[in-house]
Amino acid sequence: MKIMKFGGTSVGKPERMHQVAQLITKTDEPKIVVLSALSGTTNALVGISDCLAARNKEAAKANIDKLEAHYRDFVLLLASTEPARAKANAIVTEHFEFLNIILRISFSDALNKDILAQGELLSTKLFSVFLEEQGIAHELLPALDFMVIDAFEEPQLPVIREKLTAILSEHSQTKLFITQGYICRNAKGEVDNLKRGGSDYTASLVAAAIKATVCEIWTDIDGMHNNDPRIVDKTLPIKQISFDEAAELAYFGAKILHPTCIWPAQLTNVPVKLLNTMQPEAEGTVITEEAGSVGVKAVAAKDGIIAIKIKSSRMLLAYGFLRKIFEVFEKYRTSIDMITTSEVAVSVTIDSDLHLEEIIKELEPFGTVEVDTNQSIVSIVGNEIAKTDHILQRLFESIAEIPVRMVSYGGSPHNVSLLVNSEYKIKTLQLLNKGLFGL
Ligand code: ASP
Ligand code: MG
Repeated sequence: MKIMKFGGTSVGKPERMHQVAQLITKTDEPKIVVLSALSGTTNALVGISDCLAARNKEAAKANIDKLEAHYRDFVLLLASTEPARAKANAIVTEHFEFLNIILRISFSDALNKDILAQGELLSTKLFSVFLEEQGIAHELLPALDFMVIDAFEEPQLPVIREKLTAILSEHSQTKLFITQGYICRNAKGEVDNLKRGGSDYTASLVAAAIKATVCEIWTDIDGMHNNDPRIVDKTLPIKQISFDEAAELAYFGAKILHPTCIWPAQLTNVPVKLLNTMQPEAEGTVITEEAGSVGVKAVAAKDGIIAIKIKSSRMLLAYGFLRKIFEVFEKYRTSIDMITTSEVAVSVTIDSDLHLEEIIKELEPFGTVEVDTNQSIVSIVGNEIAKTDHILQRLFESIAEIPVRMVSYGGSPHNVSLLVNSEYKIKTLQLLNKGLFGL
């Protein structure tokens, strides 16, 4: 059995949904299809929820009506027969009635999650109506029946496996299942979600739960690229990459894949394929345990980084200094991305300023503290990157003109991270594209 996940843009227009129906019926291998909400819907729902939280019911109502109109138009082009349109419109009515009822009750966090869940519920139900109209046999599986997170918001893979296996065994004749990405139930049994972009995570968890043959993530780009296509002119898709490399790239800014979605696939060794709905013949990227080749595969950048330097002559020959510093970050549940040390100073980076003031205050007794905001981590990711021909030399030569704030290599042989002021990010990515990939 394989998993096919389609993102917001892949289902965002009626003709795209039609195309998805073609893609999933090309082979008769059994499959579970995971859908995101139509593109723009989750953002719109967040907006509605924000209006309600701010007690601005009029704005919320206006946004609900606007979104409903969008779905009415969608239905008209999605289905071509009157009975199917009526069925689809009834679904739209049901979900927008729910949103309108919410206008009349007091807002809460649980309600917020219910609002956010409407997008995936709508996309899958509407898609199911279209499949039925086309005579394509399938079963709609409610994700809320099997996708669960614990009190720490961590997905419970063994429980998901148990529930999903039981559900699938009730439909042993069915070859095509459709389910919602993103949504789940929390430890209290309430509707919750896997955070923004979480549909990839759903796909990977489902793939791991049933040990799928492959987990296909269909988006609007032909795989993971060697550099950020929004920033540099020429980029190329990566053919094969390891789970470790892909995790680094996803975490350090490659937007194509949600970083959390690597571990379930890696744990169960299910290959992940990144494919393009608009160009289905393109090879895309396959993520497997093996890296495929040695050398640099890609660069990516992550913005909004804060560098903190703690300088102390007491660090000289002292032990326990780093522990004391790390404890401060631990206390404020702030994770550190990069670390570099010299004999008298240590620099670390964090990506959240939520507790910055408290952290600085608690670090001050240890030495002079300097903070640089507006930094970017540029990550160079590959397999044994320093092994290939003078790569470190080429790397540093190509960015000779960039003032680099921190360099980190050796944590793994698969990554070199540079910290630069964000104003140099674009230039750095362009220079590396030339220096490392000759593009
Ligand atoms: N619809 C959700 C979002 O926009 C989940 C997803 O698409 O992955 O964040
Ligand atoms: Mg997405």
